[in-house]
Amino acid sequence: MTFQKFLAAWPAERREDGASAATADDVLAVLDKDCLQPVDFLTLLSPAATLCLEDVARRAHDITLRHFGRAVQLFTPLYLSNICTNQCRYCGFNAKNHQPRRHLTHEEALAEAASIADTGLGHILLLTGDARKIASPQYIAAIAKAIRPLFASVGVEVYSMTEEEYRFLAASGVDSMTMFQETYTERLYSQLHPVGPKKDYVFRLSAPERAARAGMRSLGIGALLGLGSFVQDAFATGLHAWWLQKNFPGLEISVSIPRICPHEGNFDVPDEVDDVHFVQYITALRCFLPKAGITCSTRENAFMRDHIIRLGVTRVSAGVSTSVGGRVTPDDGGHGQFEIADHRSVAEMTTALARLGYQAVVKDWEDI
Ligand code: SF4
Repeated sequence: MTFQKFLAAWPAERREDGASAATADDVLAVLDKDCLQPVDFLTLLSPAATLCLEDVARRAHDITLRHFGRAVQLFTPLYLSNICTNQCRYCGFNAKNHQPRRHLTHEEALAEAASIADTGLGHILLLTGDARKIASPQYIAAIAKAIRPLFASVGVEVYSMTEEEYRFLAASGVDSMTMFQETYTERLYSQLHPVGPKKDYVFRLSAPERAARAGMRSLGIGALLGLGSFVQDAFATGLHAWWLQKNFPGLEISVSIPRICPHEGNFDVPDEVDDVHFVQYITALRCFLPKAGITCSTRENAFMRDHIIRLGVTRVSAGVSTSVGGRVTPDDGGHGQFEIADHRSVAEMTTALARLGYQAVVKDWEDI
């Protein structure tokens, strides 16, 4: 069964009714369980759970310590290209936006990657816009292969590919794949992605399954919080991660928790997720998925990132630029994909984590 079929058993009304019906007693009962089911996760996302947030947070903290200790993995993105054929309404790289475009040459990409490796980071994430004739699978694979000796792990966050293309990337040294569904509400997805290849909701939804079958070691998923209803997208994201864990037990599954933030284009956020619901989401995810990684980007500010590490976040970015180039080659001269709220370098992030009593892990994987 595909995830699409599995998700169909949880239509919007079922999710909404389940969340509305949950009581504070139901939430406390869920916290007493050892192994949570999807219905329990829904209870932790309910309005009633906001009244018990401290209890859920305590449980999330304990579970995180038990499974991950006081260790947080650091990584950084490398934007290879901001040329894009899509018009995602919420993104600065939207093809209609008049921001400068740039595409790194092979040599420029290697120089940028080498400067990232010099910071000591062992995990890098390659990003491109969706323009497969320019940032083709062959282009991405060639860069991955060339930089692989510099890093313990090379991941991609690019457009949806076929299983064969993912297999080609895996054979070139890419070991992790991140794919944001943005929103799991299909009708809203169509409105937000009016043209371009990303318009295909099902092809994107099934991309992690294809990447898993193609041999990726690690998969990351996520919704862009603020696009759709909180309960709908938060629940579907957790359910997706849970389903991937069940169907691909040998793989490392992680959930990213991006909240939409300012960017070019002045998109009005339809369902802004406030701090209370953001924390509710992280703690509910941790209780439901004790072994899943939770990734927080620099969309969140330093204050928020420092606080949510105790609640379940296990992976953060540092030394981030969302522009193409800029570390050792000229940058694209634009505003990046979104505005960064935490500008700390790798060294500053490491120090900040140490102050919190946590160890920054720059490398936790060795390919043998
Ligand atoms: S979200 Fe991705 S696909 Fe959409 S416009 Fe931005 S870069 Fe292109």
